[in-house]
Amino acid sequence: MFDALAERLEDAWKKLRGQDKITPSNIQDALQEVRRALLSADVNLQVVKNFIADVEKAAVGAEVISGVNPGQQFIKIVYDELVKVMGESNVPLAQAKTVPTVILMAGLQGTGKTTATAKLALYLRKENRSCLMVATDVYRPAAIDQLITLGKQIEVPVFELGSQANPVDIATQGLAKAKEMGMDTVIIDTAGRLQIDEEMMVELARIKKAVNPNDTLLVVDAMTGQEAANLSRTFHEQIGITGAILTKLDGDTRGGAALSVRQISGQPIKFIGVGEKVEALQPFYPERMASRILN
Ligand code: GDP
Repeated sequence: MFDALAERLEDAWKKLRGQDKITPSNIQDALQEVRRALLSADVNLQVVKNFIADVEKAAVGAEVISGVNPGQQFIKIVYDELVKVMGESNVPLAQAKTVPTVILMAGLQGTGKTTATAKLALYLRKENRSCLMVATDVYRPAAIDQLITLGKQIEVPVFELGSQANPVDIATQGLAKAKEMGMDTVIIDTAGRLQIDEEMMVELARIKKAVNPNDTLLVVDAMTGQEAANLSRTFHEQIGITGAILTKLDGDTRGGAALSVRQISGQPIKFIGVGEKVEALQPFYPERMASRILN
């Protein structure tokens, strides 16, 4: 496992061979290789710095286990630390004590928010949970049609009031409709912009206040690597997220955004998107992502 990193660590761990303890001085080259590996996996620079400091803390003082390749021992320390930072285990969706559970979707335009709304609805439907999707993105008229089309495809109803209505009203009425229909879960798709802007944040905050969601999920495009850190910081500070969905992991991106989002917001990645199809959603598992980042 982790052959690429192992190879790069070859020179670094020669320094560890024959030594009985990992010390701040004999570990520097190895840390430098991990730093490079994380940066090439698109982890945000500040996140890398914090992570390397954690790894150093975890590794220094460790006995070099005789009979075990010190490089492999070091990689295990890095892997364990990555898993720890990403939250150790999968964190499921929140569930309301009294139905419906409300899930608010947030994120920039093009990240896969509308697709993720439908993916999540299908995922829940497969668990025998009933769902209503609510279309509040009135700025991109195609977004409402897109959700309606997806709704038909997965046989999940969509609540919408056209593109002239106020998004906060749509969300409020959508929630009331879900209650009336006896739905188990309501997923609210919201408007995104190409960049974070004040108006979008204010509107999102208003919707959030109006529907009091159990989960506010930030949808993040894994291919945006470095940007993912700023995005999660801003959304968490201004809106308060409870988790994230990392999309487009079917590409060859190494998934460094997962580490950035988790470390910066402190909130778990709950799902990953692995394709354009509505079925292409999987729960997030820290161990799998750690392997992907290190490979
Ligand atoms: P929104 O503007 O955030 O609502 O984004 P959309 O849901 O409209 O998605 C934007 C584009 O990304 C569409 O072409 C989707 O098919 C595509 N997309 C969404 N999720 C994924 C994914 O996990 N993998 C891939 N490859 N494409 C995705």
